[in-house]
Amino acid sequence: MATIEIVQINCLSDNYGYLVHDPESGETACIDTPETEPILRALEARGWTLTYIWNTHHHYDHAGNNLEIKQKTGCTILGPAGEADKIPGIDRAVDDGDCVSLGAHSARVINVGGHTLGHIAYHMETQSAAFVGDSLFALGCGRVFEGTMQQMWTSLQKLNALPDGTKIYCAHEYTTANAAFAVTIDPDNEALKKRVAEIAALRADNLPTVPTEISLERATNPFLRATDAAVQAHLGMSGAKPVDVFSEIRARKDNF
Ligand code: ZN
Ligand code: FE
Repeated sequence: MATIEIVQINCLSDNYGYLVHDPESGETACIDTPETEPILRALEARGWTLTYIWNTHHHYDHAGNNLEIKQKTGCTILGPAGEADKIPGIDRAVDDGDCVSLGAHSARVINVGGHTLGHIAYHMETQSAAFVGDSLFALGCGRVFEGTMQQMWTSLQKLNALPDGTKIYCAHEYTTANAAFAVTIDPDNEALKKRVAEIAALRADNLPTVPTEISLERATNPFLRATDAAVQAHLGMSGAKPVDVFSEIRARKDNF
């Protein structure tokens, strides 16, 4: 089975769109629809035809251009069952444990609700790739707009359980701001310090810090480190429940 090709597309001020292409079948999926023109241009430049939109959640910068892109390409739209009523043009609603296909490849749907209630991620295990929308970011996580802190923490644990080497394709370039916050939570973490320097160098050259990789997030992302003794001690929360530590970190970030 040929490997898939993944194309990262700059959209709006800080969104990333993605095309996922299977050269064998010719099928192509677009992860979310932050902006129409750059996505259509990326398809046209490669001579690809859009087969699917795979939506992660209902926010405008993720599903707002569904109808226009569907009308121009004739694609089929898959999206989260938990918020299907808010996904324009949805053809198939999917949720935790469902499998979606791209040619002979498949992605497993993971419910990662919290940022929005029905938010989903798409995990292509054989390709070591996960498209996570606004659930997990490089050194950050999505704001908890609709769900509870417990729901968001549970969702992040599912992503945290993905195998080492899994590339995490987030929907935004928020890493510089996330890094500035992360060091206030985990100031003695050597892996984090090293990463902050690498991020500064990448952004100075206007290069993306996304995709990231799950083991790097495990080692440096404060939102995945609510169980870490040093993080808990720094917050004066040694021995506290991880969800409470997570809530505290999320609240501090909201006010950072
Ligand atoms: Zn969002
Ligand atoms: Fe977003």
